[in-house]
Amino acid sequence: MKVLKFGGTSVGSPENMRAVMEIITDREQKIVVLSAMSGTTNALVEIAGLLWKKNRDTAGMSIGKLESGYKQVVNELFNFDENKIEGLKIIDASFNTIKSFTSGKFTQTGENSILAQGELISTQLFALMMKENGHDVKLLPALDFMKIDEDKSADTQFIRQNTAKVIAETGQATYYITQGYICLNAEGEIDNLQRGGSDYTASLIGAAIDAEEIQIWTDIDGFHNNDPRYVENTRKIEQISFNEAAELAYFGAKILHPQTVFPARVHNIPVRLKNTMNPSDSGTLITSESSGAGIKAVAAKDGITAIKIRSDRMLMAYGFLKRIFEVFEAYKTPIDMISTSEVAVSLTVDNTEHLKKILDELDKYGSVEINENMSIICIVGDILGEEKGFASKVFNALDGIPIRMISYGGSRYNISVLVPNSHKESTLRALSKNLLNNGH
Ligand code: ADP
Ligand code: ASP
Ligand code: MG
Repeated sequence: MKVLKFGGTSVGSPENMRAVMEIITDREQKIVVLSAMSGTTNALVEIAGLLWKKNRDTAGMSIGKLESGYKQVVNELFNFDENKIEGLKIIDASFNTIKSFTSGKFTQTGENSILAQGELISTQLFALMMKENGHDVKLLPALDFMKIDEDKSADTQFIRQNTAKVIAETGQATYYITQGYICLNAEGEIDNLQRGGSDYTASLIGAAIDAEEIQIWTDIDGFHNNDPRYVENTRKIEQISFNEAAELAYFGAKILHPQTVFPARVHNIPVRLKNTMNPSDSGTLITSESSGAGIKAVAAKDGITAIKIRSDRMLMAYGFLKRIFEVFEAYKTPIDMISTSEVAVSLTVDNTEHLKKILDELDKYGSVEINENMSIICIVGDILGEEKGFASKVFNALDGIPIRMISYGGSRYNISVLVPNSHKESTLRALSKNLLNNGH
């Protein structure tokens, strides 16, 4: 069985939902993972933000605006009155849940419940539309099988066991529809897989059912060799390896949630990226196979903080790095890049939740300096066999760019540089022009 995921734009209007229905209804049994309609999760994030600030009136207005938009969707999506009534009931139930959190003390569970409504609405409306059009469709409630543990990592064992169980309990259908993004946490409360998490839902389900393929359908024809939001004339990549795609997704290529590739790589399931607006295009295929040596693509990850710890005690000492790393471990804060010199170490983090406490503790080991608003630029390819000219090609391409850190040799697939965010776009453009030869 295949797992197909459709993103926000793909289900962003009644017309687009119909296009998705066309794509999936080939009579082959499949699981279809849907995101919220485009703009919805952003609006829900904003509503939750207002409620945290007790700005209830403005939150109420935003809720009203979102709700009336959905009423219009229902009106356009269904042909028969009974389905319009059913559609309005779906909308009512979700908006009553949202409104129930607008009084009393606002909590994290309140926020997570609000954020979940986008996917709950899109999947129910979509399944009802498919029914209206005579298709054999059933909903699989993601909250019955999608789960994260105390560390917010996917609980793959639980997901494997319960996905099979929920499918069996739901019964036979040609098309199963389920919610992306949402899950339960270790406390059994509603939670999510972070922004863009529907891609990750699809690959977790794919791994859980040993799917023959995972397809990520979006609003672009596949993985491009540079970020099309900042650079013109980017080119689509036909085929790329799991390792290369994982590096690009982890280091900011928005087309894939950072963790999407891991479950597929473990179970060796091909991932295909496809364009909902142009379904006949071949898209990009991600498999275990290397697509050959050479530089494939670049990506950028924003919101990076660089931390430099300088200490004369580091000179000739062992155990210094261990003590530094233990501070980050204690606060469950992953480190992305690292570089060392005789008496200093620089590293980067993107999670700044515990930054203040981390800095206080690091202070014990030496003088600490931070740079905020940095971006990691990640250059990905299969470097093996290209070692001789690789670094010089990259640095020539980056002539004139102020580089704060460099990481090379950590893997065969990437070289990363840290630049101020204000230089991100010029760096991506320089790499496009001088390294990827995008022809501008
Ligand atoms: P969806 O809502 O379908 O999940 P996203 O907006 O999350 O879609 O991801 C698709 C977008 O990712 C594209 O429209 C494009 O702007 C952006 N993007 C960033 N980097 C890349 C890349 N390297 N290749 C393709 N698209 C990219
Ligand atoms: N709707 C969620 C978001 O906007 C999840 C997703 O689209 O993948 O982040
Ligand atoms: Mg996405």
